[in-house]
Order: sequence, then structure tokens, then C-alpha cells
Amino acid sequence: MNKQEKILIIGAGLCGSLLALRLGQRGYNVQVIEMRPDLRKVDISAGRSINLAFSDRGIKAMKLVGIEEKVKPLCIPMHGRMIHDKEGNTFLSNYSGREHEYINSISRQDLTALLMNEAEALENVTFQFNLKCKKVDFENKTATFVDYHTKEKTTITADVIFGTDGAGSALRNSYYLSKRFLFSFSQNYLTHGYKELSILPNKDGGFKTFKNALHIWPRGD
Ligand SMILES: Cc1cc2nc3c(=O)[nH]c(=O)nc-3n(C[C@H](O)[C@H](O)[C@H](O)COP(=O)(O)OP(=O)(O)OC[C@H]3O[C@@H](n4cnc5c(N)ncnc54)[C@H](O)[C@@H]3O)c2cc1C
Repeated sequence: MNKQEKILIIGAGLCGSLLALRLGQRGYNVQVIEMRPDLRKVDISAGRSINLAFSDRGIKAMKLVGIEEKVKPLCIPMHGRMIHDKEGNTFLSNYSGREHEYINSISRQDLTALLMNEAEALENVTFQFNLKCKKVDFENKTATFVDYHTKEKTTITADVIFGTDGAGSALRNSYYLSKRFLFSFSQNYLTHGYKELSILPNKDGGFKTFKNALHIWPRGD
């Protein structure tokens, strides 16, 4: 890629924001377009933000973009899984036999916001929100977006287009529908739903349950 080229990234989730930061640091002109509102200004979790288990691979990526020290304060170390049985007993199953080895819990929203802030601080990276990608035309290197509020269509041309628009990727769909490429993919759906539950802190602000573990209530169904 030539540094004068215009790079379009579709989707400002974890991958899109990280990619924008890295390419921005490398001097590329990057435009990121996200279909949802800016998560730094609006709570978009809808009760399903789900903290991430964040370990070696994630930390490696943070080192690469030089923000490891800024991520650390967002992390809660988890040394193991805390199993809660039907009788209310608990036992901790450590991830590792070595004390210093653990994974972390991190807020998806806080991590994404940090990546966005770092990327947006670069003058060659921009973010736009509330624009949903409808299709990508690979031969003409364009992507078409619809504004959530005005329903207006915008077509953006770029030299390189990255699709980081998640599991239901519009870019991947365009590949598939255009039938001009030898392209196949498989998709499996979760057989269960998920919902975030908040266990509110004690009056003194402390944790109601053991802080440094991933808590699990296995019920065998
Ligand atoms: C319940 C659950 C728990 C998980 N737990 C963990 C975990 O603990 N640790 C871990 O590492 N991973 C976990 N994952 C996986 C992790 O969430 C994904 O790997 C990660 O989010 C993928 O990042 P992404 O940026 O590719 O996609 P996403 O995070 O899905 O981001 C895609 C972005 O693109 C935007 N977008 C989508 N369509 C369009 C469009 N048409 N136009 C414009 N923008 C669009 C979306 O709004 C979103 O912001 C979990 C996943 C689930 C579902």
C-alpha cells in the first residue's frame, strides 16, 4: 500500500479501531465508518456489553500500538474460574499453576473507546458514525452507506477497503452476492442467547463477590 492512498475501514469495533490506530501510526490516510452512534457519547450496550476476557494475544496487540500502559488500569486480573454450584458452594479452578499467570477482564466499551481516542488523536484518521454500509463494489472500489437519521445514501471511494464489520459483515455479503469471486464461507449461530447481569457493589463500593475470577454458574443445560 502506498501511504498517499485512501483507506476505508467499515466498522469501528475492536478490530476496526485497532486497525485504524495501527495504520494511522504507520502514516496512512484512514477513514473509519461505523453504523452505530459513537459509543463514547451514547450507551449502546443494550444490556449486552459483556466484559471481554483479555489475555496474551490482546496485550500483544496493545504493545504493538504502544498503549499497553493505558490499557492496564482498565484490566481486572482473573486467576481462574469461580464455579458456583446449585447448593451455593463455590470453588476456584485456577487457569494456571503459576501465580503470576492470569487473564484479564476488560470492558469492551472502555477498550474500544480507548482505541478510538488514540486513533482519532492522529490527524490522518477520522471516524464517522450512524452510517450503515449497504454494499461494497469491489471493481470500482466504492462502498455505499445509509445515514441512520436522514436515510440519505452516500457512496465513498477508496483505494483500499477493509471490512471489520463483524459477524454480519456487509462487505462479506457483497463478496458473496456479487458472484464474481470464488468465495465461500460458513456461519454458525449460537444455540443460546446471552444477557448481561450486573451485581451492584456493596455500600462501601467494594465487590459483592470475589473480584479476581471469571464466575460461572454451570447448570448442565
Ligand atoms: C457473548 C460473547 C462473548 C465474547 N467474549 C469474548 C471474550 O471474552 N474475549 C474475546 O477476546 N472475545 C470475545 N468474544 C468475541 C469478540 O466479541 C469478537 O471476536 C470481536 O468483537 C470481534 O471484533 P470485530 O471488530 O471484528 O467485530 P465487532 O466487535 O462485532 O465490531 C463490528 C463493528 O462493525 C459495526 N458494523 C456492523 N455492520 C456494519 C455495517 N453494515 N456498516 C458499518 N458498521 C457496521 C458494528 O456496529 C461494530 O461496531 C465474545 C463474543 C460474544 C458474542
